[in-house]
Amino acid sequence: MVSLEENDYPAAAYAPDGKLWWDRVAGDGPKGATGNLPRAASWLRFNVQPGERFTTEQVRSALGITAEHFQRRLRELRGLGWKFDGMKDSPGLNAEYRMREYGWWPGADGEKPKTTEKIDSGTRRAVMDRDGSRCRICGVGAAEPYPDPPYDPARITIGHVVPASQGGGNSLDNLRCECSRCNETVRAESGSGESFENLLAGVRNLRGADKKTLLRWLKIQSRERTSLDQMYDRVRLAAPGERAKIISWLEDMIRE
Ligand SMILES: [Zn+2]
Repeated sequence: MVSLEENDYPAAAYAPDGKLWWDRVAGDGPKGATGNLPRAASWLRFNVQPGERFTTEQVRSALGITAEHFQRRLRELRGLGWKFDGMKDSPGLNAEYRMREYGWWPGADGEKPKTTEKIDSGTRRAVMDRDGSRCRICGVGAAEPYPDPPYDPARITIGHVVPASQGGGNSLDNLRCECSRCNETVRAESGSGESFENLLAGVRNLRGADKKTLLRWLKIQSRERTSLDQMYDRVRLAAPGERAKIISWLEDMIRE
């Protein structure tokens, strides 16, 4: 285990913004370059030489990570081309690991290897059907314009509730429809710029039942679709002639 002073690191250890790769946090870089996995990878790259031993505790304390299952991280690193021996390979290692070969880290040349399995088309369709091709976070539907400028049409993708980079898999309950805007973490952190007073006034004006629903949605960071939302999508996606019939049926009903 080599311990280096911060200014002893080679230039490659620094991101273009001058920070050490492993000191970067969400918002410091593009998606995939921050987060505990890329931080652990870059820390190991510049602090543990091939042949040297390390423990998960050392990585965790260097990065200030407390609440996390590091065993899973190590598995993920293996998926990114890292090779190190553990107790299984060499019983003498006990809780230590021995570095054999570096794999991907954020400053490395080349794309991050795809470690996650592709979502198969059947699963993709099942998620789209279940969520009505609407963003589960903000509620916008596929190709519907956003309610604010530049009113561009929403693009719906399949996202992971627990990110794939944190070990989230492709099971139906870990997948959901997300629009490309909600998918961007940077935007999610900067806020919309609306004044807090304005926001609070809007929340205050909600009916009691709506306040409850809003609270529930905010807590789970997801919008459930009501049976009315689901009916709207079913009619919206019906053949144009059938949709027109439903519209005139509703008009007759409401007039009665
Ligand atoms: Zn959205």
